[in-house]
Amino acid sequence: MKISILGSTGSIGRQALEVVQKMPGFFEIISLSAGSNVELLKQQIKLVNPQNVSVKSEEDAICLQKEFPKLNVLFGEKGIVDIASDRTNERILVSVSGKTGLKPTLAAIDNNIDVALANKETLVMAGDIVMRKAQEKNVKILPVDSEHGAIHQCLKDRNEVEKLIITASGGPFREKSIDDIKNATVEETLHHPRWNMGKKITIDSATLMNKGLEVIEAHHLFDMPYDKIQVVVHPQSIVHSAVEYVDGSVIAQLGFPSMHIPIQYTLTYPYRFEGIETKSFDFVKAGRLDFLEPDENKFPCLKLAFQAGKEGGTLPVVMNAANEECVFAFLDKKISLWRIFEITKKMMECHENIKNPSIDEIFEVDRITRIRVKELF
Ligand code: NDP
Ligand code: MG
Repeated sequence: MKISILGSTGSIGRQALEVVQKMPGFFEIISLSAGSNVELLKQQIKLVNPQNVSVKSEEDAICLQKEFPKLNVLFGEKGIVDIASDRTNERILVSVSGKTGLKPTLAAIDNNIDVALANKETLVMAGDIVMRKAQEKNVKILPVDSEHGAIHQCLKDRNEVEKLIITASGGPFREKSIDDIKNATVEETLHHPRWNMGKKITIDSATLMNKGLEVIEAHHLFDMPYDKIQVVVHPQSIVHSAVEYVDGSVIAQLGFPSMHIPIQYTLTYPYRFEGIETKSFDFVKAGRLDFLEPDENKFPCLKLAFQAGKEGGTLPVVMNAANEECVFAFLDKKISLWRIFEITKKMMECHENIKNPSIDEIFEVDRITRIRVKELF
């Protein structure tokens, strides 16, 4: 299988390369793309010998080209889009973070390349357009996100579904008071109890905005109305998500927490192979499984996301852009964790929603929102 990995230096990208190495001869890596972590990219180039790479800056691209004269080195937004458009690929893993994922995903779909999609922001920003295009082109969108990977495996006939049940670990502040959350430090917020992920998604997991983004992601991936999507806190992260059918039957997907498994499944789908984490699941070791209602007072971002998703149009674009810029500002210690919610809510309240936006309108709303949000820091 000829594949490319966008965001190969990130948490998902690195784990994807571990999967690739575990299956010698199965994959051929056509291209890799990174942001600024050129040192790690160099190691990856030596390891998997791609034909093309892309980095964020021209300066880094020039240095890389000198070191690897035979490699086709690209850079910037055009570089990543060119890599995603290359029809040599049979499948492409989009595991860049944030808004960077949307353009290459659309480019891959336009070129009839199946997409293993980790980047949830793509569907939050433009889920209607992405899924419609994918259907028109008969391109598969295979969800890497563990919850959606689970639902994908549990879902048979959409018309027989009563509801989708998305589980959430609850993040590091599940048992903390609202005051603790308001005063949380960056270090505390980055300390996720179950998953070791990139910084942006780790902060989103602490505010439960991540779960909100996932609700919108699920709506688009599975064409499911929002009142048929339920979020349940499940601290042990053993049940990755479930589908309830109209007859009351519930099908869930389980396993010990691991991103290798959903990453591998999207890369080998529809086939299954032995993987890095392959060892027999043990219900006894899994032990007690708890399920709780999410606390909307402590985690109001979840409600914002339901609201944005239900209203649709460009409101999710505004929410996503405001949230992402606020997360960067929180990581830079410019604002408190709670301000992420307050600023995002404010930006949503003053937005004049555009229904059925074009892709250009989506990018313009995204751009303007980011400018306005930055004025508040
Ligand atoms: P990371 O921050 O660890 O990695 C992000 C990757 O994107 C890095 O390779 C980074 O490059 C690259 N990148 C960032 N900005 C740019 C840019 N402007 N141009 C080119 N490349 C860029 O994120 P994760 O791997 O944690 O997450 C990736 C996506 O997957 C996110 O959308 C997240 O929501 C989703 N996801 C992640 C999960 C996880 O377990 N980590 C689980 C489910 C979904 P560099 O580091 O070289 O600068
Ligand atoms: Mg997830």
